[in-house]
Amino acid sequence: MTGWLSAVALITTIKKLWRGQKGSARSAIKKSSSATHIPRDKHAISRKQISQPALKVLYRLKDAGYDAYLVGGGVRDLLLGREPKDFDIATNAKPEEVKQLFRNALLIGRRFKLVHVRFYQDIIEVATFRRDNDSVTTKETGLLVNDNQYGTIDDDVWRRDFTVNALYYNIADFSVVDYTNGIQDLAAGLIKIIGEPSVRYREDPVRMLRAIRFAAKLGFRLDEPTHQPFSELKPLLFQVSSARLFDESMKLFLGGFAEDTFAHLHQYDFIDVLLPELNILLNDAELHQELHLFLKIVLRNTDSRIREDKPVTPTFLFAAFLWYPLVNAVQRFEADGLKPFLAYQQAHADVIKAQVKALAIPRRCTTGVQEIWSLQWQMAKRQGRRAFRVIEHPRFRAAYDFLLIRAQVDPSCQVLADWWTAFIAADAEGREDLVTKMAKRSGTKTKTRKQKSHER
Ligand code: ATP
Ligand code: MG
Repeated sequence: MTGWLSAVALITTIKKLWRGQKGSARSAIKKSSSATHIPRDKHAISRKQISQPALKVLYRLKDAGYDAYLVGGGVRDLLLGREPKDFDIATNAKPEEVKQLFRNALLIGRRFKLVHVRFYQDIIEVATFRRDNDSVTTKETGLLVNDNQYGTIDDDVWRRDFTVNALYYNIADFSVVDYTNGIQDLAAGLIKIIGEPSVRYREDPVRMLRAIRFAAKLGFRLDEPTHQPFSELKPLLFQVSSARLFDESMKLFLGGFAEDTFAHLHQYDFIDVLLPELNILLNDAELHQELHLFLKIVLRNTDSRIREDKPVTPTFLFAAFLWYPLVNAVQRFEADGLKPFLAYQQAHADVIKAQVKALAIPRRCTTGVQEIWSLQWQMAKRQGRRAFRVIEHPRFRAAYDFLLIRAQVDPSCQVLADWWTAFIAADAEGREDLVTKMAKRSGTKTKTRKQKSHER
């Protein structure tokens, strides 16, 4: 409801601004150096919607005589009636000056110095206005490598990525400052890069992925000149560090809009940058329907878990992204004559190795991925005490959820999934019963050591 009201308020603001530009409500807009200032009564942002820690930082900066603005996603999301993920602050105070104002502040970053002000769970990021400068160092590719020339708000705005991310909320008079027609693009649902697109992507190729992330998250369109250079400049993304790409992939897939984000990434042909092994199979005619349905279910589940405030981990997601590449590799190795267990070992090592070259997935996460995978095989073997051991595995719940999704796209897994559902629900006696019945049905008696070793 609040969202809807704010959206209405935004549209009202735009209409007033348009009328203002035609002359009838000119007093609504006070122009200074090419910026549009939208006064408090003409926009929907109220201080009540801004977190206490962010307000504290804004006021302390202002009271110390500095300019202090909320900027970026915080302003954009509040104008859209959405709840911001975080609040970023921009100021003319230098990082060292900001640090002096707060006991709980930490200077971070080398390429880009920032201050993090910590309040229990919350971290407020404070950035000093920056300007473009001839002495700003760029590599021959156009990549920005040194970016610490301080400036004014008029300089800072042109270095931000998209017009809708370049709106500033001024704590001194509660106005919103718009240099780039960001308000108009917000109303039009448009992601538009600031400046010359190819220059901006060469400075930082990750902006291409950010464009996609915001389009998916906000349900916006990418402006034609904003996406036009994607195919030509995509190769620059392969030079970005795998650590930064991993961080970005977390924002892409664990931000609550993974299903749409994946569809956009696929549409603009960026999957190979992040998930090269999966990308190879995405157009496989035989797998196509099953694989796309599997991914859709996984991504939709991830998004709804986030909406319900349930925990999500990259482990489950990567186990899913790489499951079909794994199965495919196992089949290849088996066809080459490797025994099933060795084929599995070789396949998982190969698939993970290729993946971590693209994204620096932390070790604890790849270990978890392997556990979920190996439990898929272990869950199929339920004779004797095996099922009782498997259910005690710390990763069992994730592995079982994974099996349920597999069963939704592959009917041959359904019997196994139902068996585990019954086993989880049963008491001790019921579990014994299930194992005995299953052994009888499959004609398995207690196996000899020789038979067991053959199975492995
Ligand atoms: P959200 O926090 O909802 O993901 P956001 O727009 O706040 O979105 P952040 O990554 O928090 O994104 O960055 C804050 C702001 O800093 C952005 O809105 C943008 O103005 C600027 N910014 C961030 N990364 C870049 C970049 N790579 N190039 C240019 N500007 C950037
Ligand atoms: Mg932000």
